[in-house]
Amino acid sequence: MKNAQCKKCLNKFYEKEIYTIQQFQYRKQPTYKWSVTYFDKLGISEWDSFCEKCILFYSEESEKEWKKQFKLFI
Ligand SMILES: [Zn+2]
Repeated sequence: MKNAQCKKCLNKFYEKEIYTIQQFQYRKQPTYKWSVTYFDKLGISEWDSFCEKCILFYSEESEKEWKKQFKLFI
């Protein structure tokens, strides 16, 4: 049964296909600490569920934002 809901697109999907921002602890950059702060500003916590498409979107968005931050300080 599709009973999980993506916080962003509101689509329903299977519980085993849930993604959370916790998976970002495995990427080198941005650091996980930075990611958590970034998502907190967007109102997203470590326990919110997302579908694969939306977590990919956030993955790219946060990376862009992370890089932007460094350009500003150069
Ligand atoms: Zn979604």
